[in-house]
Amino acid sequence: KTVLGIETTCDETAAAVVSVDEDGLGQIRANEVLSQIAEHAVYGGVVPEIAARAHVEVLDRLIARALDKAGIGFADLDGIAVAAGPGLIGGVLVGLVTAKTLALVTRKPLLAVNHLEAHALTARLTDNLPFPYLLLLASGGHTQLVAVRGVGDYVRLGSTVDDAIGEAFDKAAKLLGLGYPGGPEVERMAESGDPERFALPRPMLGRREADFSLSGLKTALRIEAERIAPLAERDVADLCASFQAAVVDVVVDRARVALRAFSGVAGRPTALVAAGGVSANGAIRRALAALAGEAGLGFVAPPLPLCGDNGAMIAWAGLERLRLGLVDDLTAPARPRWPLAADPARDAVPAG
Ligand code: ATP
Ligand code: MG
Ligand code: FE
Repeated sequence: KTVLGIETTCDETAAAVVSVDEDGLGQIRANEVLSQIAEHAVYGGVVPEIAARAHVEVLDRLIARALDKAGIGFADLDGIAVAAGPGLIGGVLVGLVTAKTLALVTRKPLLAVNHLEAHALTARLTDNLPFPYLLLLASGGHTQLVAVRGVGDYVRLGSTVDDAIGEAFDKAAKLLGLGYPGGPEVERMAESGDPERFALPRPMLGRREADFSLSGLKTALRIEAERIAPLAERDVADLCASFQAAVVDVVVDRARVALRAFSGVAGRPTALVAAGGVSANGAIRRALAALAGEAGLGFVAPPLPLCGDNGAMIAWAGLERLRLGLVDDLTAPARPRWPLAADPARDAVPAG
């Protein structure tokens, strides 16, 4: 089976072609990503209106190029997958309307994928990874620890009460005068910095629930930066290293708590898995691998090009759903908000 994947929920326009091998693993035949970083960099963040226009301008060409690279035509596809949310509504609509049109014209099934589910399943594209597993999903807009029990079956064990980890990296970078997106910049600076020079807080450390809080850390970083301003290159490196070390400590502590909670909802995990843009961070990957080792588990994180937003993960989630017969019709809505997993304890459903 072969599926086209379309991603336009944020600031990456992406189109990919993925097939499933006999062994059940994915084979990426094309993975075209066009980042709009340059368009948004001057504003220090994503501007929704600019993003939507940019998606319109390049998406059709990107799809054509992906099919071309894969050496196939529309007739060879078994489905059209698209991220139908969550994300910026203008961008989501561009991808969804394009996918619906293609599905209508080619008479192929439409697969309206949750962008977060695509991040959550990415590790299964490249690794033989059975359910259930513990997932840290950390990106620019989301941070959660989730028990992944199956396709469409997610239990949230913890999430951030304020900023997402990627957002915290982006804000840290901005206040230190580094570029956007901030994660890679902060990580690069941290390499030559002293992680112990600044004693930054580790919010939520030791809490029994697996939740995150990152806004206090960001504030503490700002106070330190203002205290020693003007900042020399060395100071910025030390601030980055101290910030990243604090994030790593929090991530490991929270994941450890989630591992304990996991057995109550899903039994024994097959692995500890990281996904989302933040999972590209080397320090976080190393720390999670060590934690998994302690618990006698494997650690799986996507190869770097599959950590951030891409079309291959959308195509793969589409294939996983297609395999189970979970196809959508042309009324599938664009969903600016679309939680991956409901938490019955917290997201109380209003009666009636
Ligand atoms: P969401 O998936 O929640 O809708 P998004 O799609 O914008 O948000 P991704 O593209 O998955 O998020 O991830 C982008 C985020 O990952 C940015 O906040 C970026 O700073 C962060 N990031 C990327 N690389 C690194 C890194 N090496 N270290 C830390 N953070 C990183
Ligand atoms: Mg992005
Ligand atoms: Fe994402």
